[in-house]
Amino acid sequence: TTPPAVVTVTGAAGNIGYAALFRIAAGAMLGHHQPVRLRLLELPGSLPAAVGTAMELDDGAFELLTSVDIFDDARAAFDGADHALLIGARPRGKGMERADLLAANAAIFAEQGAVLNDVAADDLRVIVVGNPANTNAAIASAHAPDIPSDRFTALTRLDHNRAIAQLSHHTACPVREISRVSVWGNHSASQYPDIFHARVGDRSGAEIAEDRAWLVDDFIPTVARRGTAIIDTRGASSAASAANAAIDHVHDWVFGTPEGDWTSAALPSPGVYGVPPGLVCSFPVRAVDGRWEIVEGLDINDFSRARIDTSVAELADEIAAVGDLLPA
Ligand code: NDP
Repeated sequence: TTPPAVVTVTGAAGNIGYAALFRIAAGAMLGHHQPVRLRLLELPGSLPAAVGTAMELDDGAFELLTSVDIFDDARAAFDGADHALLIGARPRGKGMERADLLAANAAIFAEQGAVLNDVAADDLRVIVVGNPANTNAAIASAHAPDIPSDRFTALTRLDHNRAIAQLSHHTACPVREISRVSVWGNHSASQYPDIFHARVGDRSGAEIAEDRAWLVDDFIPTVARRGTAIIDTRGASSAASAANAAIDHVHDWVFGTPEGDWTSAALPSPGVYGVPPGLVCSFPVRAVDGRWEIVEGLDINDFSRARIDTSVAELADEIAAVGDLLPA
């Protein structure tokens, strides 16, 4: 029988954690033959909610779920982790400036990176969901010198999925016939969803992008501001779609992206496409043999270049703001 995979989820009692755990237990992330041990990390004040969630997981009688353990200590929670879903993050409090938020989260992710370095499994894969996700991933990686940096990733798959959905609505082309969409940059309003290389049924994305008014005034802002639109409409932030995207990300990382297609994920830049090393930036990526590979050699036009540069500049600013927490 297959040994269970150890999956540690932080912020497990939060909205996204709650939506993610049941699908992980049901096999949506690691496949329907892979048993899973769940380890939930929460802040002490949220432990009762985590215990309640574990009771509900119990009530799912999931065949693949070997165990659920709950911790408020990172070292215990990450022990032996094959997968770490870092969802918990400090939300912006009243009167908190952006720099304070960055610093508060940098401290959390510096500690978690160092602990992962010490206690996680050799094949650890990390996805950061908690915002500012890209910079949190960069900080965690910087504090985990023994873990290859390409194991630290951040979620932009939700932005990618949102872009496909909008493109599908606009063209009336089914989602399954849309491929090669790319999201570049930061998981923030500055992100750039790029359709110039996409295939949309038998049409090219570049042809659809010729309608610049739609591209600039509708498509790009709709994708980038979708999170706010969900909050305004639903009265709560996106949770199930974010959990779904995190599961898609890990699933594809493990099982590979479909032939002829790619997806989007934020990875430490190796210095390609003009993105400085040290930044965790969203790129078009393929997963091959359990590793992400950035899709190289795409022709970046001036329209795209300017937008990528804007988002990359924001990432550089974020890293500069938490420079004190980077190891020398
Ligand atoms: P959610 O589960 O709704 O969100 C968790 C994080 O995901 C937030 O940082 C949120 O960012 C981010 N996120 C990234 N992409 C998206 C997206 N597309 N839509 C919505 N959110 C997105 O937050 P909750 O407050 O419900 O739960 C957080 C939990 O984390 C709490 O239970 C808390 O106790 C715990 N926590 C754990 C920590 C730890 O384990 N060390 C540290 C801090 C908190 P944004 O805030 O920008 O929406």
